[in-house]
Amino acid sequence: MELYALIGKPLSHSFSQKYFRDKFRRDEISADYLLCSLERIEDLDTWISSLPLLKGFNITMPYKEQILPYLNDLDLSAKHCANCNCVKMIRHNNTTTLKGYNTDYYGLRLVLEKEFPISAIRKVAVLGSGGAAKTAKAVLKDLQKQYKIVSRNPKQEQGEISYEAFNSEIKDFQLIINATPIGMHPYQNATPNVDFEQLNPQHFVLDLIYNPAATLFLQKAQAKGCNTSNGYTMLCAQAEKAWEIWQNE
Ligand code: NAP
Repeated sequence: MELYALIGKPLSHSFSQKYFRDKFRRDEISADYLLCSLERIEDLDTWISSLPLLKGFNITMPYKEQILPYLNDLDLSAKHCANCNCVKMIRHNNTTTLKGYNTDYYGLRLVLEKEFPISAIRKVAVLGSGGAAKTAKAVLKDLQKQYKIVSRNPKQEQGEISYEAFNSEIKDFQLIINATPIGMHPYQNATPNVDFEQLNPQHFVLDLIYNPAATLFLQKAQAKGCNTSNGYTMLCAQAEKAWEIWQNE
């Protein structure tokens, strides 16, 4: 039986195990998908050695960037996004090579092209400056969209802006992407610091969070007439891309 897994900490919010186990059952694939809470990224080699049937794994918070020095090779998607959420293991004789990919890139690009009128969107605000925001930057660059990263501590030399500055120019952004954990456990009752009074039906809002399906951020945006979407399509698309990489590349 082949093994696949997710590493990160904590993993209680993850849908990946259910997603892959349902897929394996439905498609009669003899494989399992494990959730492996890794205390420290330094434990990666020991963890890999303990699972000789492992063929590939996903990476979630907080290791998407920390894993980069442990990889032998990086696909363009991981290089471009400067973080990695999917590793393919190539075992040959007694050596194992780890190649890193970023399948969030494919997932996010698909969502933007499928669920939003992307050609009509000129300027995008990305809330947060972590791994998902870096992926969003790469996708938006490739789609040739103007964008601003909105941060609690903006790195001005990198063009990031504060929430205050964002709220003062909120009407200029057609699409707002929440790439912070605000809205998911333990922040279910909070929203990013957005001035909801200024939102209107011309705004599109994407929350990368998929659990809960409608964060307070999405509920408040919907109440102002915005078109909204959550992170579920992206989650499924990045998982399918990972499966394709593990099977075919
Ligand atoms: P991350 O690397 O930890 O970055 C999150 C960023 O959010 C931080 O860099 C920070 O930016 C901001 N932030 C953190 N705590 C905050 C707080 N208390 N208040 C306001 N801002 C805060 O996490 P990530 O990997 O980018 O993931 C971000 C979100 O996207 C998570 O909810 C994750 O589940 C979701 N996600 C979904 C998918 C999907 O397939 N749907 C894929 C990837 C990620 P500043 O310090 O600059 O403010």
